[in-house]
Amino acid sequence: MTDEQQQQVLIVDDNPLNIQVLAEGLSREYRIKIATRGEKALEIAETAPRPDLILLDVMMPEMDGYTVCRKLKEEDRTKDIPVIFITAKDHLEDELYGLSLGAVDYITKPFQFPIVEARVRTHMNLKRKNDLLEKLALLDGLTEIPNRHSFETLLQKEWRRCMRSEKEFSCLMIDIDYFKPYNDHYGHGAGDDCLRQIAKALKDALRRPGDFVARYGGEEFAVLLPETNCEGAATTAGEIRAAVKRLGVKHEFSEAADTVSVSIGGVCIVPGEDRSPRSFIDMADQMLYKAKLAGRDRIMF
Ligand code: GH3
Ligand code: MG
Ligand code: MG
Repeated sequence: MTDEQQQQVLIVDDNPLNIQVLAEGLSREYRIKIATRGEKALEIAETAPRPDLILLDVMMPEMDGYTVCRKLKEEDRTKDIPVIFITAKDHLEDELYGLSLGAVDYITKPFQFPIVEARVRTHMNLKRKNDLLEKLALLDGLTEIPNRHSFETLLQKEWRRCMRSEKEFSCLMIDIDYFKPYNDHYGHGAGDDCLRQIAKALKDALRRPGDFVARYGGEEFAVLLPETNCEGAATTAGEIRAAVKRLGVKHEFSEAADTVSVSIGGVCIVPGEDRSPRSFIDMADQMLYKAKLAGRDRIMF
């Protein structure tokens, strides 16, 4: 297993001896981070690469473990990190309370290390599976770029961000020209292959870290360009169109070109209360429609 894949445990305890025993044993399988105070634990948990699991003591000075757990569950970035309490508070009510806060498990001190190890392993395995499912849920299976669902989530987020900062926001809708005849003549497998190549070309054509491309539908892709003005968006659209051309995928049944081409509709606006993300996408769609009507293999803004 490479370092990147190695999961990370955050051990939170105000007693250095407890930390030492846990860290020593668990470091055989996991990367270890430690905190002796609640505040510090929250800080580490929020900072990427975030821990995959937190072993949390309850009785600590200043902020107790229950409070730490509550705060972790309130925060989007940390709410899915499994928490296991490991504490001397062994009353039924304490355990019930800890679990009610969203902890996945509750271990009482004095602990037997092999029990801690076994429970940590169980939850780490679940965490790994959840992470994988989450990742897959955001990607399109065929092209392995983000899917429609990711697009909608990011659209809402970037819309609000550009509205607050009063920055321009651009969107490109991209549709492959004469793709039905491509499938009909070259077969569905070749069609799939073409979609994969185009997805990669689009991804590679984007420059800025905030630029985003998703598969929006069958043979339609959508690009979001936050904080990008019309000129920048038009340049990117041109690069995308050229990148698809450069692939040189032969298409003898297209009436627009000799190789596979795309039509692109673009919009660029400063998001405001008088508009919605939906209307923004609709405008890009209308521009795409115009590009199709005007003969395809072109860009309309
Ligand atoms: P236009 O130039 O107006 O865009 O015409 P078009 O033929 O590209 O558009 P149309 O919407 O009529 O056809 C889209 C085709 O895309 C139909 C469908 O078979 C194909 N398609 C959609 N999704 C997939 C896919 O996942 N794999 C493959 N191979 N083809 C797909
Ligand atoms: Mg098409
Ligand atoms: Mg279409």
